[in-house]
Amino acid sequence: MEFFDESIPISHIRQYLFCPRIPWFKHVMSFEPPEQGWVTQGKRWHQSQNPRHKRRLHHDIESPRECIIDAYVKSSTLGIHGLVDEIVMNAEKCVVIEYKVDKGKPTLAQKYQLIAYSLAAEETYQRDVVAAILLKGSANKQYRISVSNTEKINLINVLASMRKVLSCQRVPFSSASEAKCAQCEYLRYCNDR
Ligand code: SF4
Repeated sequence: MEFFDESIPISHIRQYLFCPRIPWFKHVMSFEPPEQGWVTQGKRWHQSQNPRHKRRLHHDIESPRECIIDAYVKSSTLGIHGLVDEIVMNAEKCVVIEYKVDKGKPTLAQKYQLIAYSLAAEETYQRDVVAAILLKGSANKQYRISVSNTEKINLINVLASMRKVLSCQRVPFSSASEAKCAQCEYLRYCNDR
């Protein structure tokens, strides 16, 4: 078994926590289904939301501020990289923001994706992340996500278990519920569902 030591795209952490087979299909089988309509819709929605929430960040980070959309971040320490929807920064601090079109409280998978972006942003831009924010649903609701030592350790454990799965040629076990599979773009490729 060859150990998977490549840098992991951070969006795949969220997918792994949704179902471990999804990043396995992408990395081991090199298979990516065509982009679905809801993904395109999500991208358009992200773009439309950008100007709407800036004033709510002003108490987190003093001016002069700079805003980067689709900011590339990378952590060599954790072996992860990705594009954050938005980073607002000044000379010492930054705020990491991710948009999600779905409503309701953040899922565990969404939280760990944002935690990973925050740690990678800290390493890339050499600034303290003072807030990690999920903006969700059409109501544009803000959820602030904690990035404590416990969450960092949990993320390291998730990455270790991902690397194990991605090092193996055998399709991983999935405990995904029927509801999850019903909304999954890989459904037709999972022959035990
Ligand atoms: S169809 Fe179900 S088991 Fe298969 S990848 Fe999707 S969520 Fe996982």
